Amino acid sequence: MRTLGKAANHTKIAKKSFVLLCVLGAFVVVLLCQAPFAWRRFYVYPRTEAALAALGRQRAPAEPRADGLIDLRGIIHCHSDLSHDSMGTPGEIIAAGQRAGIDYLIMTDHFGWLTDADVIRRGLRGEHGGILFIVGAEMRDGVMPLFLDRPPDRYDPHEPLQGYVNDLRALGAVVFLDHPDDPRRRWDIQGWTGMEIYNLHADARKTNLALYSRLSEQFWSMDRYPLRVYYRIFREPHEYLALWDRFTTRRRVVGIAGNDAHQNNGARLVVRADGALLLTDTSGNPHKAPWLVLADPLSRHLARWRFGDLTPGRTLWRADADLYERTFRFVSTHLLASSRTESALRRALEEGHAYVAFDSLAAATGFDFALRQAGARRAIMGDEVAFGPQEVLEVRVPVEAVLRLVHGGHVIRRQTGRRLLFPVHSPGVYRIEAHLQVRGQLLPWIYSNPIYVR
Ligand SMILES: [Zn+2]
Repeated sequence: MRTLGKAANHTKIAKKSFVLLCVLGAFVVVLLCQAPFAWRRFYVYPRTEAALAALGRQRAPAEPRADGLIDLRGIIHCHSDLSHDSMGTPGEIIAAGQRAGIDYLIMTDHFGWLTDADVIRRGLRGEHGGILFIVGAEMRDGVMPLFLDRPPDRYDPHEPLQGYVNDLRALGAVVFLDHPDDPRRRWDIQGWTGMEIYNLHADARKTNLALYSRLSEQFWSMDRYPLRVYYRIFREPHEYLALWDRFTTRRRVVGIAGNDAHQNNGARLVVRADGALLLTDTSGNPHKAPWLVLADPLSRHLARWRFGDLTPGRTLWRADADLYERTFRFVSTHLLASSRTESALRRALEEGHAYVAFDSLAAATGFDFALRQAGARRAIMGDEVAFGPQEVLEVRVPVEAVLRLVHGGHVIRRQTGRRLLFPVHSPGVYRIEAHLQVRGQLLPWIYSNPIYVR
């Protein structure tokens, strides 16, 4: 009997040890899987930030431009709660813009979904919190009219696209085409001024980063180093730039950054009118089903214990990836304007006196790309001039960068420094790309609009 009892005891101990080993094993596996994320959080990202801060300290104090133009940094393509897929309030957008230090913001809510004419009528315009707001809209087929004072008199989604664009132009809008990644984009229509050469929302949507990695990055680093996490999804827009280069050989096309800010990539736990708990995204899209509905008493009990009052409509918990402030800090479109007014911004945008900058790496204000012509004449990015002898392209950047001069889509000069001079021997379309060398990586920083030498 004693031997039997001993044997049973041994089996029990063996079982216990096995369970313990399994738990320990699982713990080690989780630890190993999470190690790369922890390593980035505590080793890579702090060092990248330090390297960027060191780069920023090289900056010479910004001097006013000789031509009197001012460099205004702002955001084009932003959605609010007037769109079907955003819950962002005007107050949130203004506060985020102030924190990000932007000068202007062009709102482009979806037109043709829920609020249509209200998108134009009630859109944020004028000065708010030191930011100049302008109204535009994102319409069918990626048509993005900017500077819209009033809604179109008629809206026929089946009207041929060219007539639609003509109507918008007759209303005084400056028409851009967005999402160059969309294969349905109608580049053949007439009357558009420019295009997005980068779209952040598309980048996030097309990322190869698995959900597991995104959630892990969110957990470890999003609060502390959000813009470094953004770089995990960032892809250099080679195809869009190539497309742009093809268009500009034929005519002037203004390149801008599409922030496409929605603040709708996140999760929230809310109380429904009937008291059920919903785990859903942060888009507020009424056509989207929640991920999880918890209506049982136990869930409600636990929620009350953890979050307190369960008043219908209350948000109990929320986690965001694409807060407006982050999206605004990441990339922007700089306009060289004669003054800080809507009409001056419009002129600068139409003329392509603009460049796209990833200011989250280093503030790009102070960048200049110009053509010194005979006499004291000077053309800047966006300008179209006749070819003449003794013309020199001149580039200046506020901190040391790898500068690439692109001519007709091909890099014809590559140089590291703060300045580049290039004598122009032949007509063509010239633009600049500046990359920053950060801890052995070459990161895209600035894309200028071209100077067109015809
Ligand atoms: Zn959009």
